[in-house]
Amino acid sequence: MVVRVAVNGFGTIGKRVADAVRRQPDLELVGVAKTRPSFEAEIAARRGYPLYVAGGGKVEEFRAAGLSVAGEFPELLKQVDVVVDCAPDKVGRENAKLYQEHHLRAIFQGGEKADVAEHSFNALANYGECLGAERLRVVSCNTTGLARAGSVLLPRWGVERWDATIVRRAADPAEVNKGPINGILPTFKLPSHHGPDVQTIYPNLAIHTAAVVVPTTLMHVHVNQVRLKQTPADAEEVVKAFASTRRFRIFQRWERVDGTPQVMEYARDRGGARPDIMENVLWRDGLHVEGPQVTFFQAIHQESIVIPENIDAIRAMFRLAPDAASSMAITDRTLGLSPD
Ligand code: NAD
Repeated sequence: MVVRVAVNGFGTIGKRVADAVRRQPDLELVGVAKTRPSFEAEIAARRGYPLYVAGGGKVEEFRAAGLSVAGEFPELLKQVDVVVDCAPDKVGRENAKLYQEHHLRAIFQGGEKADVAEHSFNALANYGECLGAERLRVVSCNTTGLARAGSVLLPRWGVERWDATIVRRAADPAEVNKGPINGILPTFKLPSHHGPDVQTIYPNLAIHTAAVVVPTTLMHVHVNQVRLKQTPADAEEVVKAFASTRRFRIFQRWERVDGTPQVMEYARDRGGARPDIMENVLWRDGLHVEGPQVTFFQAIHQESIVIPENIDAIRAMFRLAPDAASSMAITDRTLGLSPD
């Protein structure tokens, strides 16, 4: 079976989801939808993605820019089995009504509240629970990173209490209208929304999060302090558990990766379709174990970490793969993530 996919919203996440769908043997990208002409629309056309106009956009505006348009968004919806909604925060909820009218399955992103879908999704954490679902929400970049780490810690040692400080990037690289460009802004919502969001996946996890925004576009960093229920033998045992799990990349000291600038340089150098790093990034020197207490840093590439999860969410929905391991094996191979 090949599942026919539409991507609505062609920004940071949407263009990456579309490219990723194109690489899957069991998915077909039928078209992408945009509201306004832009260089991204021109690139979509160059890649051969049929372009539809959504969100009150005007076909004539695209045509005036010399862009060929396949039609209006509802015409795309008639041709597909599922739509991956990658519109800005809260717009997905509005779009949900349209998808329902078309009796279409839909995948939403982390900018929507959890009740937009039947389940919040993370491949390592709850693929099995999401099999056959009609609407899934792929949780945000930070929540995806925390949920993946939880899938390593929880089954092995249990978690008594997890405190995480999220050092958030101010903006994505292309977002010139966001800040700060000089300053550190505490988020005066405590706990930050990340902890409750992780609990949409692990309802019983005692996780407490706080966030600060810093002037960078190069990834988020989490400072995690986790009290485990059972004491690991040593730090190596914890490192091995992360290293043997898909979607983790652990840098060793000799690799000379001091922080997020070198992580992104590594992503550029290793090649692949985009200079992205979809894995959780840990450092061997940035993981410390003292009795049941584990402290570790992890860096999250906000623009790309959720992309493999969007693909796995489609597979879970249509039961294209029976379990997370088999879906992730295909996704990771086709997207060039760290090998087994
Ligand atoms: P974005 O602003 O980069 O892209 C959104 C795109 O949707 C734009 O091209 C915009 O023109 C288009 N759009 C606007 N209104 C629309 C409508 N009514 N219908 C269809 N398209 C419309 O946003 P993004 O960063 O890609 O975020 C998309 C979703 O992914 C949000 O829920 C966000 O919270 C989530 N997310 C973002 C990141 C990130 O760091 N960028 C990470 C994880 C999850």
